[in-house]
Amino acid sequence: MSRILIVGGGAAGMMAAVFAAKNGNQVELFEKNEKLGKKLFITGKGRCNITNAADLEDFFPAVTSNPKFLYSAFYSFTNEQVISFFEDLGVKTKVERGGRVFPASDHSSDVIQALKREMDRLGVNVYLNAEVKELIIEESAGGKRANGLRLSSGRKISGDAVIVATGGISYPSTGSTGDGYRFAGKCGHKVTELSPSLVPMEVKEWYAGGLMGLSLRNIEIRITDGKKKLYQEFGEMLFTHYGVTGPVILSASSIVGNRLKDKELTLHIDLKPALTEDQLDKRVLRDFEANHNRQFKNAVDSLFPSKLRPVIVELSGIPEEKKVHEITKEERLRFVRLIKDFTMTLTGLRGYNEAIITKGGVSVREIDPGSMESRLVKELYFAGEVLDLDAITGGYNLQIAWSTGYLAGVNAGVKVLVHRPISGYTV
Ligand SMILES: Cc1cc2nc3c(=O)[nH]c(=O)nc-3n(C[C@H](O)[C@H](O)[C@H](O)COP(=O)(O)OP(=O)(O)OC[C@H]3O[C@@H](n4cnc5c(N)ncnc54)[C@H](O)[C@@H]3O)c2cc1C
Repeated sequence: MSRILIVGGGAAGMMAAVFAAKNGNQVELFEKNEKLGKKLFITGKGRCNITNAADLEDFFPAVTSNPKFLYSAFYSFTNEQVISFFEDLGVKTKVERGGRVFPASDHSSDVIQALKREMDRLGVNVYLNAEVKELIIEESAGGKRANGLRLSSGRKISGDAVIVATGGISYPSTGSTGDGYRFAGKCGHKVTELSPSLVPMEVKEWYAGGLMGLSLRNIEIRITDGKKKLYQEFGEMLFTHYGVTGPVILSASSIVGNRLKDKELTLHIDLKPALTEDQLDKRVLRDFEANHNRQFKNAVDSLFPSKLRPVIVELSGIPEEKKVHEITKEERLRFVRLIKDFTMTLTGLRGYNEAIITKGGVSVREIDPGSMESRLVKELYFAGEVLDLDAITGGYNLQIAWSTGYLAGVNAGVKVLVHRPISGYTV
């Protein structure tokens, strides 16, 4: 029996603990918070989108950084296995729009409780309010080896393997404050450039603030750098006091975020993507004919939500009090163009406090993708968001945490579990 030390009681750390314990190891898990899974608790707006029901091959395009590295991890502990794992622990699941998988209860706490019960059943020792300050690395002729850690209390804990699952630096109030990057750096690991991702974006137009709280469904966004299209997606977005957020915006941030560091980008919103410009013109013409004696500002009620109306009217350049029958064809076509291409200037990303995920992390070049073991330090493993891995929204980021946590857990210390990729795991 080996003694496995796990740093961090989030998604990756708890999953690693379960499988390291199933392997017959003595497992000690250290969490600096007063409770486990603080970030898990707030995932999916408190409902926890645990994974996605998509075909596993469709997971790779959803991963923004280093998808190939995840091949072994995803196939060793698949989305279907994650679902069975939680169902076996009594968490019934359901699939929603876009293949998003949630607990049927809509409570993230059920996921945390299930992991806690399983760790308890397997005899994992959980230490709360236990902040790990540093890793203890032994150096010998055979190279470096992880053999313990030191807590902030000064207490030294020795073990046969250490799994670092400390998360990133987004939503630091949940405990993810980047300690794992420091541990990795001290061991000689490269940590790639960090940035907030799946994060709202700021815009500079005067009308942004006035649209605060407005949610647009069934729109299509495009982001360009003036010349090239960088991103295009259909879905839902929301205006805030500083700019824009919502599913399509968050996903876009993970693709265009790096570009926004040194230049502004243009957000194009197609408010009526189901209609071609021609079809929309016919529709507008019908509305105008039905309202031909009214003022322009009062003739567009059926086209937009009320908050958007004054903005579009102003941007159209058509005087708001102009009678509809006086509007020229040229003005009408410009108005139609505006509805198909409502633009705003993106000036930057919001910070880590609002970011769903941290982009960048421990470089995966120095990690064995089949085991999550460091290539520089024996019996040192990394799992979850601390690694340079991130994906778009939809349950993919938690799948990264579960799969890498699983691999670290089954590979650290004594290895008894037999890998049966896709078909299941057995002891
Ligand atoms: C608001 C929000 C909603 C999200 N919703 C979803 C979703 O629905 N679906 C999805 O797939 N992803 C979602 N994510 C992303 C997902 O939560 C993360 O990808 C995932 O939690 C990463 O797991 P982890 O175990 O690597 O890190 P974490 O969950 O951050 O866990 C790391 C743990 O390590 C502990 N720790 C850190 N340093 C130390 C130390 N020195 N000593 C001891 N303990 C330490 C921390 O306290 C923390 O508990 C969401 C993220 C946010 C912020």
